Amino acid sequence: MANGVNGVLPATKNHNDEFHNGENEDGLTAMQLFSTGEGLTYNDFIILPGFIDFTADEVDLHSPLTKKITLKAPLVSSPMDTVTESDMAIAMALCGGIGIIHHNCTSEYQANEVHKVKKYKHGFILNPVVLSPNHTVADVMNVKATHGFCGIPITANGKLGGKLLGMVTSRDIDFLDETATQQNVKLENVMTPFKNLITAPSGVTLPEANALLEKSKKGKLPIINDKDELIALMARTDLKKNRSYPNASKDENKQLLVGAAIGTRPADRLRLQHLVNAGVDVVVLDSSQGNSIYQIDMIKFIKSTYPDLQVIAGNVVTVNQAKNLIAAGADGLRVGMGSGSICITQEVMAVGRPQGTAVYKVSAYAKKHGVPIIADGGIQSIGHITKALSIGASAVMMGSLLAGTSEAPGEYFFSDGVRLKKYRGMGSIEAMDRKDANGSAMDRYFHNEMDKLKVAQGVSGSIVDKGTVLKFLPYLQCGIKHGCQDIGARSLAALRDMMYNGELRFEKRTNSAQQEGNVHGLFSYEKRLF
Ligand code: IMP
Repeated sequence: MANGVNGVLPATKNHNDEFHNGENEDGLTAMQLFSTGEGLTYNDFIILPGFIDFTADEVDLHSPLTKKITLKAPLVSSPMDTVTESDMAIAMALCGGIGIIHHNCTSEYQANEVHKVKKYKHGFILNPVVLSPNHTVADVMNVKATHGFCGIPITANGKLGGKLLGMVTSRDIDFLDETATQQNVKLENVMTPFKNLITAPSGVTLPEANALLEKSKKGKLPIINDKDELIALMARTDLKKNRSYPNASKDENKQLLVGAAIGTRPADRLRLQHLVNAGVDVVVLDSSQGNSIYQIDMIKFIKSTYPDLQVIAGNVVTVNQAKNLIAAGADGLRVGMGSGSICITQEVMAVGRPQGTAVYKVSAYAKKHGVPIIADGGIQSIGHITKALSIGASAVMMGSLLAGTSEAPGEYFFSDGVRLKKYRGMGSIEAMDRKDANGSAMDRYFHNEMDKLKVAQGVSGSIVDKGTVLKFLPYLQCGIKHGCQDIGARSLAALRDMMYNGELRFEKRTNSAQQEGNVHGLFSYEKRLF
């Protein structure tokens, strides 16, 4: 054979036309697949392969999150208190996705997390641990025990923004033994004083700071303003692992994109104001059943008060639910009810919808109005992501897939020798019982203040350590690209077009087909994914 990849003749226009004419037709269109009245999950169907004439690397993963925000990777982290705070949101944005900061916290705390993402500068530590000259060697030891480092700037008031007086590093304290007297030594007596420090001025670029650190052979470089006040810190260890993130999601000021979740009660209007002041790019109205007068009023309020702010409404699973929120002005919709890994909504409330059908039905309607859909919940693998994108979703929102990474809030713990992190539903009793520092009840996702009794819609559990999101997300993206290549879609936009014009073919999977599609017949095996 003269032409084609691996000796296979290239698809010709005629070849495709044969399918459109019904000849040699194989599989079902998405419309046929989802028109039987049965609710389908991601596992209930499979996508039939297409024709490959490009490399996986060439696949374009750009995809809209809302009417005005486009992501370079269709990946969103869920607004859950065991999934997304600033560390996760920074990592998501660096990798081309976006994180939505949860609201099971005070509005000040949430706004500060948004602020940290917006102020993030790659390589610069903008919230370093700082001590005062009156702190003691024991305080440094404490920092070392909790954070693992002891290069600490010393400012007059012991805070970032205070006048820089010196630095304490391991060299300053290593010679001290651990006797009580020496532990009580004040830092002013052991620190390297300001006059002996190498510092960099605010406005220094990453390469300049890098060069200074190399020349000084020091571990940390304090960045100061013209009044010698500390404004940031750079660490040599960070520079060593410094990678560039050309796909980072950024706004027009080159700051990382970030979202935040809110409720629909009057207090949420004040919360929103804090978030807007902190620079939030998109808000998510967080409810398991979004088709309510409260959301419609909130969308209208946001659109009239902050016309440039993007609003994602939901959750919805039916066309009728979507209709109301789109009519009210939603810029994006979050789709899913009862499909989350920690979710017991369908069991307790008796409402919801299998996720495949929900995503297809809502996407097909919202497309006519130019409103992108986020498939939220139930994503267990890369294959599920590719399936969600192939039936109309523009992005996927993940909880369990990202919980257990080092960027997820919470500490690791061991159980039976396995390193784990907590993961819980926002409608679990544990999350609903969370109190703020003053002992007041926190924001409610599934639970109304007026309710005498809480009805849980989620459970609390744990997830195995997955390492860093900065490695996990590139793996997910690479997997999606390979899926698209097998399908024959050069971009996510092309994938959606192929689905709507009937070129993309699907098939239902019986139970035995699902078993066949999983590992079977082995005595034992190890599943290493990347
Ligand atoms: P996962 O990715 O399958 O773990 O699902 C995460 C999604 O579950 C979130 O983005 C929410 O939409 C949803 N969710 C979060 N907490 C609860 C809960 O307590 N009950 C039901 N659904 C929840």
